[in-house]
Amino acid sequence: MKNRITSLFNIEFPIIQAGMIWCSGWELASAVSNAGGLGIIGSGSMYPEILDDQIAKCKLATTKPFAVNLPMLYPDIDKHIATIIKHKVPIVFTSAGNPKTWTKHLKEHGIIVVHVVSSLKFAKKSEEAGVDAVVAEGFEAGGHNGRDETTTLCLIPMVAEEVNIPIIAAGGIGTGEAMLAAMNLGADAVQIGSRFVASIESSAHQNFKNVVVSSKEGDTQLAMKNITPVRLVKNEFYLRVEQAYQEGASVEEIKELLGRGRAKKGMFEGDLLEGELEIGQVSGLIHEIKPASEIIDEIVKDFRMAIEAQKSEKFQF
Ligand code: NDP
Repeated sequence: MKNRITSLFNIEFPIIQAGMIWCSGWELASAVSNAGGLGIIGSGSMYPEILDDQIAKCKLATTKPFAVNLPMLYPDIDKHIATIIKHKVPIVFTSAGNPKTWTKHLKEHGIIVVHVVSSLKFAKKSEEAGVDAVVAEGFEAGGHNGRDETTTLCLIPMVAEEVNIPIIAAGGIGTGEAMLAAMNLGADAVQIGSRFVASIESSAHQNFKNVVVSSKEGDTQLAMKNITPVRLVKNEFYLRVEQAYQEGASVEEIKELLGRGRAKKGMFEGDLLEGELEIGQVSGLIHEIKPASEIIDEIVKDFRMAIEAQKSEKFQF
């Protein structure tokens, strides 16, 4: 497959594995890159020395391009940027912040910069800031999410209508059929998170992987919209937060209830009751934990079959 994204990243398939805190370390990123996609190390949950070690291990595990996801609200971002430059990481996906802040600096070091957005407004701002591509992520996505609740089905064509740089669709995509749909809407590639959480190589706790593959439609919900909107599994912690809102809790009270390190507790330590379990709506379609290479192969195969299926009678009218 050759298009603007495969050429930009020098990869075989336009399939990007999302950078996900506590779930995407070097094992997953290198496995995805080795299978022809673009693997991403999620640096938001890594102390500076951990990221340094993770990048070094990724470079040993693959000769293919890989990226680092850099959430801009990360407290030690300067250190992460220095590490990325030191290791000559070829691609950075920035998220959760202003794309103007670091794009110029990263590009001066020859790094390809992609910014993650959840609205048309920020897609346009990202293009103005000089990024090479945008990830447009719809409401279906797991974890941190936009406030406007724009779904992938609406967001991708809206961004495609007004933005000229390559577009990577995210949110609700876990299959080859969904990949084809997103590309028909105007995307050049897809970014997939939830499906790779349920991979052998993901650093998520086994308990969390088991939750992902047993999730059904309706098991996740967007929470804490007035703080940082985040899509979570409706576990005990989520229900407590919802009850607090119903009882009129203030922002401070919700923040106190949230405390620190909830995401680590849930996704990395496997505390299914008390932790934050960040996953997308598409988890209802994920039934098996597989090696990352099998996931990529299956998505590519289903994508090609979906193209063939469009020649069937159903589409002739
Ligand atoms: P909390 O404030 O609840 O906890 C911070 C967590 O991050 C702890 O578990 C801590 O690990 C870990 N950590 C890693 N590096 C550092 C550091 N330099 N200083 C402090 N803590 C660090 O945050 P969350 O768990 O909700 O989020 C963690 C991170 O995820 C955020 O800092 C942010 O970078 C990222 N994030 C990314 C988003 C995005 O891309 N859209 C959205 C939201 C968050 P330990 O427990 O071992 O101390």
